[in-house]
Order: sequence, then structure tokens, then C-alpha cells
Amino acid sequence: MTDCVFCKIANGDIPSSILYEDDDMLVFKDLHPKAPIHLLAIPRKHIKNLFELEPEDSQQLADMLKKIPALADQLNLSNGFRLIQNNGEGGGQIVDHIHFHILGGGQLPAM
Ligand code: AMP
Ligand code: ZN
Repeated sequence: MTDCVFCKIANGDIPSSILYEDDDMLVFKDLHPKAPIHLLAIPRKHIKNLFELEPEDSQQLADMLKKIPALADQLNLSNGFRLIQNNGEGGGQIVDHIHFHILGGGQLPAM
């Protein structure tokens, strides 16, 4: 989507601190970190959120959930991490391109 900030990051049209990328997904630093390490994982494909998830996109999200822990050492998260994923206005979603917040570094408070 041309007016989507995360599509622009995925296309290299705006700069970001990318820590990992492949044909399907990217991991980059959140501009406004809420933890010592705060990354965002996105699929390259523009999917708005879980409300809009099509059956054919499910495997891609499952693959992302497998890759994130596999990248833990590379992302300095081998001690553990938290995933947060916001859906819709009431869920606090600001950017309408599905993303996982990856939080870690140090000891996160219990939820
Ligand atoms: P959400 O509220 O779940 O939609 O989260 C959107 C996140 O995207 C926020 O934590 C923002 O700090 C982050 N963000 C917005 N624009 C950028 C950007 N250009 N580069 C990195 N992170 C961004
Ligand atoms: Zn997008």
C-alpha cells in the first residue's frame, strides 16, 4: 500500500534500522522504544491486522512466529522476549500494517 509507512520501510523508501530481513518478513527497531530492546516484526505483504487475515496468510504469520525465536541470539534476546500485537483502534493499533512488537533486554515486569 503506497501510503503505508511499514510498506515504505519494507520497500526501502524510508529509512529504518533493519536487523533482519528475508523474502517474507523484516525486523527493525521501533522509533519510540518502550523497553531496552523494542523491535517490530512485519510481513512484507500488507495485511492490516488479525481482523483482516485471509486464510492464505495464516501460514506466513505462523512462519514469522517460528523465525522470531530462531533469531533470538542475533537480536540479543536469548534471555527471553515478549510479543505484543495490537488490533484496531480499541486495541491501540496506530500503524495499519500487521506487526509484532518484540520487547526484551533486561527483566520485563510481569503482566
Ligand atoms: P501500534 O500502536 O501497535 O500500531 O505500534 C506502531 C509502532 O510503530 C509504534 O511503537 C511506533 O513507535 C512505531 N513506528 C511508527 N513509525 C515508525 C517508523 N518509521 N520506524 C520505526 N517504528 C515506527
Ligand atoms: Zn503496509
